[in-house]
Amino acid sequence: MKAIQIHSAGGPEALQLVELPIPQPEAGQVLIRIEATGVNFIEVYFRKGVYKASFPMVPGSEAAGTVEELGPGVTGFKAGDAVAAVAVIGSYAEYALVPAAQLVKLPEGLSLEHAAAAMLQGMTAHYLAFSTYPLKKGDTALIHAGAGGVGLLLTQIAARIGARVITTVSTKEKAELSRDAGASDVILYTEQDFEAEVKRLTGGKGVNVVYDGVGKTTFDGSLNCLHPRGLMALFGASSGPVPPFELSLLNSKGSLFLTRPTLWHYIATRAELEWRAGDILGWAAKGELKLRTEHTYPLTNAAQAHIDLEERKTTGKILLVP
Ligand code: NDP
Repeated sequence: MKAIQIHSAGGPEALQLVELPIPQPEAGQVLIRIEATGVNFIEVYFRKGVYKASFPMVPGSEAAGTVEELGPGVTGFKAGDAVAAVAVIGSYAEYALVPAAQLVKLPEGLSLEHAAAAMLQGMTAHYLAFSTYPLKKGDTALIHAGAGGVGLLLTQIAARIGARVITTVSTKEKAELSRDAGASDVILYTEQDFEAEVKRLTGGKGVNVVYDGVGKTTFDGSLNCLHPRGLMALFGASSGPVPPFELSLLNSKGSLFLTRPTLWHYIATRAELEWRAGDILGWAAKGELKLRTEHTYPLTNAAQAHIDLEERKTTGKILLVP
């Protein structure tokens, strides 16, 4: 099978096309034939060596496809079932293994491409909005990178709950997409001081929650956008990691809450996985959650997908198709 492999940390050229044997499912595993795999920022971190991995590795953990073969002891699935998962073992490939406990079936009417586009970023948006800081009608949220993969989905979910959503984006084109997703106010943080804008937009009060996946360049300003006892969810670092932090600042800035969440702790049980995947895939199937999949590349072009993601050229979901 064709696969993309990383042999040592490096730039996009580290993503090399190779031929590998189709893996064999062991007990509790399912072999899936991949129709589309999602590109996520975490693969950039692994490729660059920011997150440690043992090489050679086939990157990628999110895919949708059809069941090809069941490992010993697996029940509840059969060959040909349309499925998706965020715990795929090396999804930049034509086939990959998934622990059956992490696999979900697709609802009627949802394409495999849309399922791949929705799973990881959708469930991330879901846990941020319903669990990390459970948004309520009337809350105000600041969401950075509002036209990104997580950003567009989180904005739609927050608006659906009835929260007021303020976003930041880097270009006017992205601002339009963010508004379409439900943002009431969009700040061009490449041109405007987003902290001052948030204060102006909230009449000096600040916001209940900041969802910050940008990290290094936004973190300090984000804390200043919160009103007392507000919550900062630092869920990513697309601009680089946040340096060590003086905890007493949480006190002086208003008894703030700070968390650094990750999806895996929010889908740790089958019940939670089914709740979040069921909501996200169900809303996507009914058209209630809009997915943008215009950044779709052949698997062999994985390097270009990483370049475009890192150069902030993409909006919505990036997919690789084997
Ligand atoms: P995005 O589609 O949001 O892409 C990243 C965006 O970040 C860019 O489009 C850009 O938007 C913005 N950005 C700001 N500064 C930079 C920079 N210096 N370099 C690159 N991009 C920059 O990616 P995802 O939706 O896949 O992920 C968003 C964040 O969420 C990532 O940090 C990712 O790691 C994190 N994440 C965390 C999860 C978790 O459970 N903790 C799960 C999934 C994702 P703009 O041009 O508008 O500034």
